[in-house]
Amino acid sequence: MAVKSVALVAHDNKKQELVDWARANRTRLAPLRLYATGTTGRLLRDSLERDDLTCLLSGPLGGDQQIGAKIAEGEIDLLVFFWDPLEPQPHDPDIKALLRIAALWNIPVACNRATAEFILTSAYMTDDAHHPQKPDFSDYTGRNVTAT
Ligand code: PGA
Repeated sequence: MAVKSVALVAHDNKKQELVDWARANRTRLAPLRLYATGTTGRLLRDSLERDDLTCLLSGPLGGDQQIGAKIAEGEIDLLVFFWDPLEPQPHDPDIKALLRIAALWNIPVACNRATAEFILTSAYMTDDAHHPQKPDFSDYTGRNVTAT
């Protein structure tokens, strides 16, 4: 069975919630390849005892963009992103970019615990035959653009 890859990000006020969710779902997460932004990743590594979790840069230092790049390259199957709706972040443009790229590439995104629970328990998570439709951007990439 192909291993699914999950990217995990939580803003500071949401980190405890993400860790609690991950702990409660440790068994479901066990077969999945995990990526996370720096600080989120360190907390999850310790809490889940998952040395194999890949820690990227901290979100405000480029970690969100690293995850966005992985999504664009087809390496991520699910984004769990507990962003903070009550506090502006210094890297708001990166957050918007990450959510945009996930929408663009038709990647499921869980922005809160309830959605994460729905997605992680979905039959699609363990169904090797199910692949979300990959968008076709050939009209866009083949559009007529000229320069003189
Ligand atoms: P962090 O980044 O996991 O390094 O705190 C999360 C974010 O704010 O994007």
